[in-house]
Amino acid sequence: MTAGASRLFADLEVDVEPDAALGPRTWFGVGGRADALVRPRSIDALQTLVGRCHRDGIELRVLGEGANLLVEDEGVGGVVVRLDHPAFRERQIEGRGGADSVRAHAGVELPRLILETSRAGLAGLEGLAGIPASIGGAVKMNAGGAFGAIGDRLHAAAVLDRRGEVSVYAAADLKLGYRRASLPGPVLLWASFSLESDDPMRVQERVREVFAYKRSTQPLSDHSAGCMFKNPPPDSSGEKRSAGQLIDQAGLKGLAVGAASVSRQHANFVTVAPGATAADIVALADLVSDRVFDHAGVRLEREVVVWGRGRGEEGVRHDA
Ligand SMILES: Cc1cc2nc3c(=O)[nH]c(=O)nc-3n(C[C@H](O)[C@H](O)[C@H](O)COP(=O)(O)OP(=O)(O)OC[C@H]3O[C@@H](n4cnc5c(N)ncnc54)[C@H](O)[C@@H]3O)c2cc1C
Repeated sequence: MTAGASRLFADLEVDVEPDAALGPRTWFGVGGRADALVRPRSIDALQTLVGRCHRDGIELRVLGEGANLLVEDEGVGGVVVRLDHPAFRERQIEGRGGADSVRAHAGVELPRLILETSRAGLAGLEGLAGIPASIGGAVKMNAGGAFGAIGDRLHAAAVLDRRGEVSVYAAADLKLGYRRASLPGPVLLWASFSLESDDPMRVQERVREVFAYKRSTQPLSDHSAGCMFKNPPPDSSGEKRSAGQLIDQAGLKGLAVGAASVSRQHANFVTVAPGATAADIVALADLVSDRVFDHAGVRLEREVVVWGRGRGEEGVRHDA
């Protein structure tokens, strides 16, 4: 980090870690460092920081729980923001349910919110049980699966634009799609959800069922970033095949590059063993994509977001 960059933060309520290791902060557990990892201690400080990065042309990225993220081995420049101060972990839960019954800041962990809403007898988020995420990352990726996506329950979201100004948007304004949301700015600050009042025991039972299903179908205890690829749209005959089925049918379970391999439990998961590098994972993903194309004529699109030095991030749309 240059002296100029460190002056960016000198008068702000932030904690700064120069040359910070990002790998251990991701679920893959591999990858390089950030020039500066910055943890704002207030919303004001975050707003000023975002505005200054824009003014000075400094790259800004937001790190959630790192559950859908691969940081390349050479790391990233600029500023990586992590919203884990209590100011970004506030949430309000209104037990009667209805529109806007839950509001959670970006740094709240989704599993914690599911636990708290289910105990309060609020139904609607339990289909997301077992998905590791911050609220910011979950909305940005429109996280979900067989039992629905977070966007199905999203009511509104507050987003900081590049100048650090906050605006509140209705869910319909965020163009939610399959594993994507178009945030009209670089940082999601909070999101609110519409949940329904239900019997707490029933909601908690449903959480347990969804989690058990997930644990039986996915390698949850390995280092991974969940599904590597998005499921492709149906082919011209209307037939739908998931990315996992296509990878399995191409005979790629167990395929490895270095210490990264295609999971034998769920073919769309790339899992890593000690000693893996981000380059192993990228090379394996490219190999899988090419082999599936050769076998089925389908080009898979990566779901995992990849951060690399000097070239922004891949895997998410840039609407901001
Ligand atoms: C074991 C395992 C199982 C998984 N299962 C599922 C699943 O079933 N369904 C599913 O959809 N996903 C799944 N995933 C992937 C992952 O859990 C989701 O994509 C999740 O939403 C990522 O959230 P995060 O906070 O970790 O975001 P990160 O991985 O930290 O970041 C992802 C993207 O969101 C952006 N982002 C994060 N916070 C903010 C913010 N506040 N403002 C703006 N942008 C932000 C980042 O910049 C990045 O572009 C799984 C992952 C693992 C490791």
